[in-house]
Amino acid sequence: MAKKSTNAYAEYSFFQSVESSFDKAAKFTNYEQGLLEQIKACNSVYQMRFPVKIGGKIEVIEAYRVQHSHHKLPCKGGIRYSMGVNQDEVMALASLMTYKCATVNVPFGGGKGGIKIDPKKYTVDELERITRRYAAELIKKNFIGPGTDVPAPDYGSGEREMGWILDTYTSMKPGEIDAAGCITGKAISQGGVRGRKEATGLGVFYGVRELCNVPEDMKKLGLTTGIEGKRVAVQGLGNVGYHAAYFFQKHGAILVALSEMEGTIYNPKGLDVDAVFKCKQETGSILNYKGATKTTKKASDVLEADCDILIPAALENVIDINNAGKIKAKIIGEAANGPLTPEADEILIKKGAVVIPDMYLNAGGVTVSYFEWLKNLSHVRYGRMEKRFQENNHNAMLKTVEEMTGKKVSAAERAVIAHGPDEVDLVYSGLEDTMIGSFHEIREVYKAHKKIDDMRTAAFVNAINKIGESYLQLGIFP
Ligand code: NAD
Repeated sequence: MAKKSTNAYAEYSFFQSVESSFDKAAKFTNYEQGLLEQIKACNSVYQMRFPVKIGGKIEVIEAYRVQHSHHKLPCKGGIRYSMGVNQDEVMALASLMTYKCATVNVPFGGGKGGIKIDPKKYTVDELERITRRYAAELIKKNFIGPGTDVPAPDYGSGEREMGWILDTYTSMKPGEIDAAGCITGKAISQGGVRGRKEATGLGVFYGVRELCNVPEDMKKLGLTTGIEGKRVAVQGLGNVGYHAAYFFQKHGAILVALSEMEGTIYNPKGLDVDAVFKCKQETGSILNYKGATKTTKKASDVLEADCDILIPAALENVIDINNAGKIKAKIIGEAANGPLTPEADEILIKKGAVVIPDMYLNAGGVTVSYFEWLKNLSHVRYGRMEKRFQENNHNAMLKTVEEMTGKKVSAAERAVIAHGPDEVDLVYSGLEDTMIGSFHEIREVYKAHKKIDDMRTAAFVNAINKIGESYLQLGIFP
């Protein structure tokens, strides 16, 4: 039996939580039990221990890579650096990746990695040694490669670590033409794609906005249609939380509460996320932010804030049986992976809240990782071939219109109409289209099954159907 998550909030095995959501949804599908068991199971679990020299002494590091599903290859999923890492957590996160990829039509199986360290306790040199050794272990067992398994950043890791992994891979596999596709979330200069850093947070925004744009659903919740003026609370100002908050604010929502590990800050009139972020960087704590009307030293207080939309963007199992009843938000957008326990989910459904599930809502990261992988395999930046061609075409069209009408298009209008797409324009547009399309796929399942009372079950049914079909079409290797 897998160990429970050691996250301070966890009382529940994270993998069991995912399995329980799967089982609930599987009842609404028509697949035989054996196939459902196969879809649910983790296909390969690699648990490793390796030595690294830290401060002149040997330290044994515990780490994992799990490939949840091989029904599509490569496997895909981030690498978490945290003391909370254990086999159960990595298995759960890998399985979520399978359902997430299916949800947003990204042709990958789910994977996840984890290194059980507190990255803040190591120097940059030490972190590099740990990361490179981890990468070497993956290479030795064929657990990384553009066609087999493609990691990415997750909690506690970022583009710096991805660069070290890429360099280790290319050093150990010289001459592999597609080597850059062995990892995503890289710096732009190392084959990363523009828009990847903010992709998950931006995807969270697009997903919540899509729900808010459905008048029927908003009416049920007693909210007005549209994102503007909605009161939002965000837990965690890391990569996902910061960018989600940034895009909510940019599009007219009001950030009424923000939290970090040291506590929660409030202002019903709105907090400026960039100023809060700067304050955290300069003073080490968001609690020093002068623009807050109230502060508390409890990081979890943010979850109970008076708001319309709650965005947990830190870690799993933070909303459980103890605090679910106290949540005031009518929309809970799961930016983190697994922030709700199954009991919390049930309580919120009964309260009539809408939970937008992680397997859909935070899929912006893997969607844009997919774009990055495609860019690496094609060896060309998005927009490089067509940008100038389109601009020339658009300008020629404008000239014709001007000649025919005798009117001049203003410089501002010309800049918008004639603009040919840059890489970031195409990435944002691909992401927006994916988040909108997948939202409505899930909503259709929800609408079609009268007995499905939540979006997570609908998202699981949608994903299981796609994975099940794939298995049936491929057949079972003897
Ligand atoms: P991150 O390390 O960049 O940020 C996490 C932030 O949460 C940190 O600033 C940390 O201080 C803060 N935090 C931790 N515990 C907290 C608490 N109890 N209260 C308030 N703040 C707390 O990590 P991230 O990449 O933003 O990932 C966050 C979550 O989103 C994770 O569940 C991760 O699996 C998920 N996710 C990330 C991505 C991605 O592209 N990075 C994609 C999909 C899902």
